[in-house]
Amino acid sequence: MSTTTADAPTAPAVLTREDRCDRCGAQAFVRATLGGSDGTALHFCGHHFRAHELKLVAAGATILDERHRIDERA
Ligand SMILES: [Zn+2]
Repeated sequence: MSTTTADAPTAPAVLTREDRCDRCGAQAFVRATLGGSDGTALHFCGHHFRAHELKLVAAGATILDERHRIDERA
């Protein structure tokens, strides 16, 4: 298993303000997909992703991490 860190500051945003944390309803900045591209997508705010990150990674989730955008408020 390889760890790939997206490090392109100009990468287009995938998550939008319409994506909300499944736990608390805050704006989501991380999406974790379980079971491949047709799997279940879970959305997390930064706080809740940190709380579940180890379990998600252990479960083999595909992580889309846009926490670098947290401070980009329109
Ligand atoms: Zn949350």
